[in-house]
Amino acid sequence: MVNLMSGDSFHPPVRTLMGPGPSDMNPRVLAAMGRPIIGHLDPAFVGMMDQMKVLLQYAFQTENELTLPVSAPGSAGMETCFVNLVEPGDKVVVCINGVFGQRMKENVERCGATPVVVEDDWGQPVDAQKLDSTLAAHPDARLVAFVHAETSTGACSDVKTLTQVAHAHDCLVIVDSVTGLGGSELRVDDWGVDAIYSGTQKCLSCTPGLSPVSFGPRAVERIQSRKHKVQSWFLDLNLIMGYWGSGGGKRAYHHTAPINALYALHEALVLLHEEGLENAWARHRHHHEALKAGLEAMGLALLVEEPHRLPQLNAVKVPEGVDEAAVRTRLLQRYGLEIGAGLGPLAGRIWRIGLMGFACNAKNVRLCLHALESVLTEMGAPVERGAALPAAERIYGVTA
Ligand SMILES: *Cc1c(COP(=O)(O)O)cnc(C)c1O
Repeated sequence: MVNLMSGDSFHPPVRTLMGPGPSDMNPRVLAAMGRPIIGHLDPAFVGMMDQMKVLLQYAFQTENELTLPVSAPGSAGMETCFVNLVEPGDKVVVCINGVFGQRMKENVERCGATPVVVEDDWGQPVDAQKLDSTLAAHPDARLVAFVHAETSTGACSDVKTLTQVAHAHDCLVIVDSVTGLGGSELRVDDWGVDAIYSGTQKCLSCTPGLSPVSFGPRAVERIQSRKHKVQSWFLDLNLIMGYWGSGGGKRAYHHTAPINALYALHEALVLLHEEGLENAWARHRHHHEALKAGLEAMGLALLVEEPHRLPQLNAVKVPEGVDEAAVRTRLLQRYGLEIGAGLGPLAGRIWRIGLMGFACNAKNVRLCLHALESVLTEMGAPVERGAALPAAERIYGVTA
């Protein structure tokens, strides 16, 4: 029984977070959250938010004016894109290759629009050819939505090509890059992405509860020429634009910003800028290579085929006869290590090992390989012993 009168402060256990998010936070980001609160209309806060916009533009590789953190988690960023860009009666092509594509379809329906689905197997990227033929069959479609980095499977889809296909059919795109941002190559302007949303607790390694979004000129034009009012008051960008504004204009009260969480996001983006975006992408690939070498040496296989793998989310097939949940429980109890379970049709069939942001480092790769080998061996699973760590060390250039 929880004793509500005990009066004890909550002290969470120390964990290593290698699941599908949240990921471990850099101490600098945690420290930023502990700084004194100021008013959200305080000139100092407004100045911080102006810097935040520039840092977000860098992370997204865009000059879009309408680039800001929505004051709610990634799911709200998703909803912001749909409620602002979709009108009742619209036809929207939704690409589904995992959990988050399904949620996009749900959003389209709730906007009173008609979804047309392009379906790919879980673990596969979105097929550009299929999207092309679907759009040819539905010339009245106005919008295409797809996921860049499908966290439920570890598959990476080709944002650039899919956007080109959509534009060739006069459609705008909404891209989910909640897990992509900061971990995989993403170039919003070069690739012509019209609307994109992300999250803070994946490769940005920040506190959950914020959703960076960015909208290009054609998306803004569509939002401003809507025939129907956006049905969500809170997420209506026409109102939010007046709040975040740009160029030091007067800010009207809309809602109270999550001030200390925004300090954290600012610091996380400063860290990303210090490292350099391309260096961050390369770091994710490097540690993924080491993890993959170790897992394969142990005899484990990855779900996604080589060219489409996300470095930051490794879907590992559970060996025949192994109780995957018992493995995760033991990893958590003995090593304080969290990895993720499979979802939907992949429940019980895969583990999801995240290498996101601050958690993407050699120490975590070594811990995970050692812990997994030890627990699987103990449970009688058919794994090769003593091979995983040396295989990872070869990638790191360490020879025994
Ligand atoms: C985590 C995630 C979301 C949802 O983000 P929340 O912050 O949990 O609301 C959406 N899309 C993808 C691809 C994700 O990985």
